[in-house]
Amino acid sequence: MALPQASADSLNASGDPVWRDPQAARLPALDADIDADACVVGLGGSGLAAIETFVDAGLDVVGIDRDDIAAGAAGANGGFLLAGLAQFHHDAVRRFGRERALGIYRLTCAELERVYAAYPSSTRRTGSLRIAADAAEESDCATQIDAMLADGLAVSAYDGPDGRGLVVPGDGAFQPALHWRAVARSLAVRGARLFGDAAMTSVEAGLVHTRQARVRAPIVVIAIDGGLEAALPSLAGRVRSVRLQMLATDAALECSISQPVYFRHGHDYWQQLPDGRIALGGGRDVGGDGEWQAGPGVSTPVQRHLETLLRERLGARAPIAHRWSAAVAFTADGLPAFGEHLPGVFVTGAYNGTGNIFGGLCGRALAHLALGERTQLADYLLEGRATDFQS
Ligand SMILES: Cc1cc2nc3c(=O)[nH]c(=O)nc-3n(C[C@H](O)[C@H](O)[C@H](O)COP(=O)(O)OP(=O)(O)OC[C@H]3O[C@@H](n4cnc5c(N)ncnc54)[C@H](O)[C@@H]3O)c2cc1C
Repeated sequence: MALPQASADSLNASGDPVWRDPQAARLPALDADIDADACVVGLGGSGLAAIETFVDAGLDVVGIDRDDIAAGAAGANGGFLLAGLAQFHHDAVRRFGRERALGIYRLTCAELERVYAAYPSSTRRTGSLRIAADAAEESDCATQIDAMLADGLAVSAYDGPDGRGLVVPGDGAFQPALHWRAVARSLAVRGARLFGDAAMTSVEAGLVHTRQARVRAPIVVIAIDGGLEAALPSLAGRVRSVRLQMLATDAALECSISQPVYFRHGHDYWQQLPDGRIALGGGRDVGGDGEWQAGPGVSTPVQRHLETLLRERLGARAPIAHRWSAAVAFTADGLPAFGEHLPGVFVTGAYNGTGNIFGGLCGRALAHLALGERTQLADYLLEGRATDFQS
């Protein structure tokens, strides 16, 4: 859909995420059949985490992507590193039970610590803010604080220049495209063979088909968030993809936003990068049914909503340089698709909107499951839904 003529910004903005380096070297193409111990389909954060687990276990691993490293949501997101599930902790407790919600929350905290320590140049421990849009949400923030403190999780009330709500001190921010490329480089150095422009067209036990070639591997891991049901049509109905939109400005030195902000129950979110640019996303709920798709592009109502937030709430005057979207997937029960799909073919994805930290954990847990090792996260995710993601 055309953007409004009234906005000069709209006409000039690039469709590339602010994070992506258009000059970055691309992966080689897969043009001949190959064999491996394990094949990972999807080279976002979840797939790379699965590859790392296999490499750690001494397996010969091939990773393929229909495009390139972090070509989907993994390289096009808000850049928040968040503990927990997509749901706020008190909502997760209500929905999934305290043991499961708290157990997963603690695992994500440990994963955050691992990521900060391993990648100090692409991650920042900033803390994150949840800012209330109105009095009812302020009250919900208070409920969240009580629930988190009762469970021994770090949180405090916030009342400052960004508004009123709460701060989670262990959360952080990162440059996603840079980060996942660094992870992929280190895996290639350790022997993982990674290929781009290699879309999986179908999969069966021990065999992944692409248009040009096949990968034969006794273990296959499919790690795709948005568009998962297109890759595995039997999951349509359990997994539903949605487009999320963002924009980013040139340096907005008139603003000073110290921490990533979640606003309006997480419907909107923004952060200011160290060089002053602002990356802001959200508005899925104002976009209507048209946003339930995994296709590219942006729409006028959502971009108008983001622009209003940028100009009126944040007071930013800098021009908008980027507008983009990427897809994620949701499930009806609020937990990801996770498990063995066919014999030897494992699937993870559909993180319900928050997957930078949790997706990596799932990728790792799924690789362990494929190796016959059941982790605590697998127990939490499979409990009561062991056969959910078989065809
Ligand atoms: C705008 C936006 C903002 C977000 N903000 C945040 C945030 O701030 N914090 C947070 O935690 N989460 C956020 N998320 C969610 C997060 O980005 C995702 O959950 C996470 O990146 C998913 O990573 P992934 O590796 O599982 O999947 P993906 O990023 O979907 O990666 C899958 C890969 O598989 C490839 N692929 C797809 N189909 C095929 C096929 N048939 N064959 C081969 N390859 C294929 C794709 O090219 C892609 O590279 C956001 C998402 C969006 C879209």
